[in-house]
Amino acid sequence: MAKFSDALASHFSSRIRSRGLDYFRSDSVRIESAGEKSIVATVEGGAVYVVTLSIEKQPRAWRVSGDCTCPYAQDEYSPCKHLWALILACDSLPSLRSPPASVSFMLSDWDEDIEGDEDDFLDDPIPYPIKTPAAK
Ligand SMILES: [Zn+2]
Repeated sequence: MAKFSDALASHFSSRIRSRGLDYFRSDSVRIESAGEKSIVATVEGGAVYVVTLSIEKQPRAWRVSGDCTCPYAQDEYSPCKHLWALILACDSLPSLRSPPASVSFMLSDWDEDIEGDEDDFLDDPIPYPIKTPAAK
């Protein structure tokens, strides 16, 4: 049976995945809250980063968006090793077992200007507003 991480592996380079696996194996991932629709965790590396996954579940497809506070995700706009480490940790969550065949992934940019003029580089239009995690 496919795992959550299997469904998302194609969005991460093998280098990022192997570094994320190191974080996961060294117990650097701490899930702070895991709900049906969003998971918030901290990943401790050179610094402590807050990593968030949001999951929109539809019957045959899940749309996953991720965010991390590290410079790689923020500045390069690339899926980072912290996100991969969290995704590996999510494999053990019952609510994320048995993902459907179609699972999409994108980085959310909720602290950027979503109305900006850079929409062109997104592969898919965003059909609904990105949910922003509630500020603490
Ligand atoms: Zn990161």
